[in-house]
Amino acid sequence: MAAVNLIGAVDIGGTKIAIGVVDHNGKLLARREMPTQADLGPQNAVSRINLALHDALKECGENLIGIGIGSTGPVYPMTGEIGKLDFLPGWEGFKIVRELSNAFDLPVAMENDADAAALGEVIWGAGQGAKRFLYVTISTGIGTGFVIDGKLYRGVNGSHPEMGHHIIDPSGPACSCGGSGCWESLASGPAMVQWLNDSRFTSAQEICTAAEQGHERARQAVERTGHYLGIGLANLVTLLVPDVIALGGGVMQSRHLFWEQIHTSIKKVCGYVPHQEVQIVPALLGYQAGLIGAACVWLHRYSRE
Ligand SMILES: [Zn+2]
Repeated sequence: MAAVNLIGAVDIGGTKIAIGVVDHNGKLLARREMPTQADLGPQNAVSRINLALHDALKECGENLIGIGIGSTGPVYPMTGEIGKLDFLPGWEGFKIVRELSNAFDLPVAMENDADAAALGEVIWGAGQGAKRFLYVTISTGIGTGFVIDGKLYRGVNGSHPEMGHHIIDPSGPACSCGGSGCWESLASGPAMVQWLNDSRFTSAQEICTAAEQGHERARQAVERTGHYLGIGLANLVTLLVPDVIALGGGVMQSRHLFWEQIHTSIKKVCGYVPHQEVQIVPALLGYQAGLIGAACVWLHRYSRE
């Protein structure tokens, strides 16, 4: 029997790096995780990724054909460089794709992590078969990836559009992007915590649980988030009219609390587009989205582009 082709997957976040091995059916065969330890520098991270991936391969064979990376953004997918990020000091301009490619003597590709998850959902998740597929992750931020006919939509020079930073309310909270009242600053998990401003609640998940137990202020925080999620999604429906929008990320683990408001907003404000034909569905890959998505970054680049 021929050896199964395997894809290495690397998911780089601000606090942890996950490493996995994914087979040609999108099954995660092995997984490792380590703290990012950004202060030790990117070269150190590459050495640790190298060791962890070799270790993971012991579980599932050695027939690695490539490595895909999904990284917290901004990244430069065409040059394989990490962009400027406050929580990855000293990593800017580091050519992580070239480093890993040299270490393994294999082709390597990288995208922003939301784009990676979008590719994961379109190849093996909720976006399968959708001609125009929008993925939205709502967690510590709001990230999006837009895939048209199986190809990732890119901006100028391969840049990643930031739909999470489109402005919903110019009088809203200031955001690090330079704007005020961006979607992310109003509808993300931290936005919920900040608005509630109650030290007993440190995460969106805790607020959602309290809301379900009848805590009135928590219920208001959920309602407010649902309102802004609905407006932002309605804007994207009007602008893009995709076939499918899949919603993922930590906040969407409590999606039943927001679902009705999202649909009500879309119905109310998307009058000039066939919004009834836009399917809004939960993302399917869950906590594996990062690694499955990273593997799909490689597939998208080397078997589809
Ligand atoms: Zn912003």
